[in-house]
Amino acid sequence: MADIIIAGAGPAGLSAAIYARRAGMDTVVYEGNVYGGQIINTPEVENYPAIAKISGFDFANDLYNQATNLGARVEFDGVTSVSGTAEEGFTVELASGGKETAKAVILAVGATNRHLGIDREEELTGKGVSYCATCDGAFYKGKTVAVNGGGNTAVEDAIYLAGLVEKVYLIHRRNEFRADETLVKAAKVLPNLEMVTPFVIKELKGSPKLDGIVLENRDDQSTKELAVDGLFVAIGQEPKTAIFKDLVTLSGGYIEGGEDCKTNVKGIFVAGDVRTKKVRQLTTACADGAVAALAAVDFIKLG
Ligand SMILES: Cc1cc2nc3c(=O)[nH]c(=O)nc-3n(C[C@H](O)[C@H](O)[C@H](O)COP(=O)(O)OP(=O)(O)OC[C@H]3O[C@@H](n4cnc5c(N)ncnc54)[C@H](O)[C@@H]3O)c2cc1C
Repeated sequence: MADIIIAGAGPAGLSAAIYARRAGMDTVVYEGNVYGGQIINTPEVENYPAIAKISGFDFANDLYNQATNLGARVEFDGVTSVSGTAEEGFTVELASGGKETAKAVILAVGATNRHLGIDREEELTGKGVSYCATCDGAFYKGKTVAVNGGGNTAVEDAIYLAGLVEKVYLIHRRNEFRADETLVKAAKVLPNLEMVTPFVIKELKGSPKLDGIVLENRDDQSTKELAVDGLFVAIGQEPKTAIFKDLVTLSGGYIEGGEDCKTNVKGIFVAGDVRTKKVRQLTTACADGAVAALAAVDFIKLG
């Protein structure tokens, strides 16, 4: 039986592995795809403290090498279920058909951003199309951007970007926003923020970088084009928690866990973007990894 099994080799899972190994724990990380998580999709990270600039790919490589050099075993196999108890240990079942047991489990399976599902979206991701205003907003200082979405995240992103860029269009498919009234009011008074409703994005223009978007009015199907340097898609995230819904308590699809990264099940911990929290960033994912690993170590040693 391993000491700790970690599901997910993203920033949270690999950070947890570093802390678990440094505490002398026999640590296994199961990754269903490639190591590194979401961050491998971005060419530039500029907001990780003490690293002024790094590509997402290099960040992931450094993190992976650090964890494996410390002795973490990373296996490329998806976790399909977790069962068991704190008293008897936990069994992790794998996509390959195998299984492994551990005294504690850390769930660090992350989330994915919902995509628009239109042509050229993948091609232009990182070249004008972004899913994270906090991550990429600073690259658009003095430029024109659009935010797409109608919930709190979209309106918050638009307000945040209005403080950085020349002009923000907030595009939503309905005339009414789902976001809190106070947020919508705060957005409406900003002189450089223009609400564009009820419109959907039909086409992305520009090569090799985004330079415009074509919109369709949902009432009369008329179209118009906006010249933009960036498009921030904020139409929701999907935490990868379907397989854990009968194991731990979920809230809005995310695994419920406080700053101590404990779930409602003793011996099972949660770290990173998949945890209920407000800020989903590298720093908070790595911090969660540290907290979850040390909490798991305490649980193993002290019960
Ligand atoms: C395009 C883009 C740019 C970004 N830029 C920045 C930035 O500049 N700065 C910043 O701070 N943040 C940025 N972020 C956010 C940052 O990447 C995330 O906050 C961070 O990656 C979350 O880490 P995580 O480990 O919690 O989850 P993830 O990165 O989502 O990693 C989870 C891992 O778990 C694996 N997994 C999922 N299900 C299973 C399973 N059942 N079994 C095994 N493995 C599984 C996944 O394959 C993945 O590797 C960006 C995100 C995106 C998408």
